[in-house]
Amino acid sequence: DIQMQGGKVEFKNVSFSYDPARPILEDISFTAQPGQRVALVGETGGGKSTTLKLLYRFYDATEGSISIDGQDIRDVTLTSLRDNLGAVPQDPSVFDQTLMENMLYARPGASEEEAVEACKAARIHQQIIKFPDGYRTRLGERGVRLSGGELQRLAIARVILRRPKIVVLDEATSAVDSETESLIQHAIGALSAGRTVFMVAHRLSTVVKADLILVVDQGRVVERGSHREL
Ligand code: ATP
Ligand code: MG
Repeated sequence: DIQMQGGKVEFKNVSFSYDPARPILEDISFTAQPGQRVALVGETGGGKSTTLKLLYRFYDATEGSISIDGQDIRDVTLTSLRDNLGAVPQDPSVFDQTLMENMLYARPGASEEEAVEACKAARIHQQIIKFPDGYRTRLGERGVRLSGGELQRLAIARVILRRPKIVVLDEATSAVDSETESLIQHAIGALSAGRTVFMVAHRLSTVVKADLILVVDQGRVVERGSHREL
């Protein structure tokens, strides 16, 4: 199993291709120190999501290595790796169950109070208590449909409840109003506390707060630095 410490993540000369004839990532190297926020930005198709998928081991690097707290991720069990990574996908899905059940699924054994605390931190609680059934509101096919911004905050709340050391967030591109934008930024702030965070960032507000920005273009990191440096 993986021995997590602070959550330092290191990509060393990582190359990857889905199809050997077409390289997708070429010689990607960077280090995320424990607790840092790393933003990946760049043109569509540049390889941002693919880079994050390698960390999750949806695929393995063709060359080079990825390590967490000094351990090569190929040397630890997939379960222990993924238990320590929280993902907030671009289009989070929900189960055909109540809101509370959707939350508790994130960490079996968590109490309802802890789930509510996570929802407050993720700035979704106020929305939830406006529903007549509150946390007993049914989601999914036959239930209430949440908006994209709400879904993303619910996904953030689940990850907060789960408490992984490392978080991967694929930010939704969809335009949101400024109030939702601000709620999402606060949710990301709560999510980031004490964790190493990787974000595919589309919003300037997200990028400004990153410790390290990686500009990924055609499978390479073409620029890196803080917002001030770039
Ligand atoms: P976007 O900003 O649009 O999300 P991205 O930077 O996340 O783009 P990736 O999704 O990582 O880009 O894709 C990088 C390249 O890999 C693209 O050329 C894409 O077509 C290709 N690609 C992505 N997924 C697969 C796959 N499963 N099989 C083959 N090629 C893929
Ligand atoms: Mg992507």
